[in-house]
Amino acid sequence: MRDDRFWIGLSLLALGLLGILGYFVLTRSAPTAALTAGRPVVVIDPGHGGEDGGAVAPDGTEEADINLAVAQRLDLLLHFLGRDTLLLRDSDISLHDPSASTIREKKVSDIHNRVDAVNAQTDPYLISIHQNFFPSSKYRGAQVFYGGNPQSQPWAERTRGNLRSCLDPENKRETKPIDRGIYLMNHVSCPALLIECGFLSNPEERCLLKDGSYQTALAVVIAGSYIQSTQEEGETANVSQSEESVLLHPVRE
Ligand SMILES: [Zn+2]
Repeated sequence: MRDDRFWIGLSLLALGLLGILGYFVLTRSAPTAALTAGRPVVVIDPGHGGEDGGAVAPDGTEEADINLAVAQRLDLLLHFLGRDTLLLRDSDISLHDPSASTIREKKVSDIHNRVDAVNAQTDPYLISIHQNFFPSSKYRGAQVFYGGNPQSQPWAERTRGNLRSCLDPENKRETKPIDRGIYLMNHVSCPALLIECGFLSNPEERCLLKDGSYQTALAVVIAGSYIQSTQEEGETANVSQSEESVLLHPVRE
């Protein structure tokens, strides 16, 4: 019941936000590195950008644009819900140093800068947003990958369960540890998820992924899953703290 109310509340919130998102997307200030000290910061990474468009669908849709649309909505929602966020890019750009000149140099510099931005935070949680692609068009469904921090896997399971129950009950894709080849996810030590929101190679799913309402729904589920997971972590920490205080302060006779 509590969960139902939570989702109904978030859905209403999403509907309300739909009308004003465009305005906020245009007016929200550029990301800054200086955030409130001591509070968790959700670092939102819209994968690719600039010359690196990521996967390109047969209709010309670039992954980087969908990643950005979902990430901006996620940023707004979390911000609206009182969380500190850092959106790594808020337009179609690469984050490379000005000194990088070749495409390879730009790509390496871009990914190093994303890693540095995460690791510069005292208590970061990373959410990297991507879209999947496969030569065969029959595959579809979001999939959640998690980093090496022990908090990542339960957070991934929570996110997967919510994506499935709220958006795609047929989705059988399991969570998986991130591949060793994904540089960003393997060079941060914080809780980290990489979410492939769906397959751009599947025409039906591509239509959904390009739709603003569906992008908002994805953002709602991802934001809600983050909040549920971190609340659970807090409750677990409080329980062990009170157990600890019992041990540290035994009743005196
Ligand atoms: Zn990607």
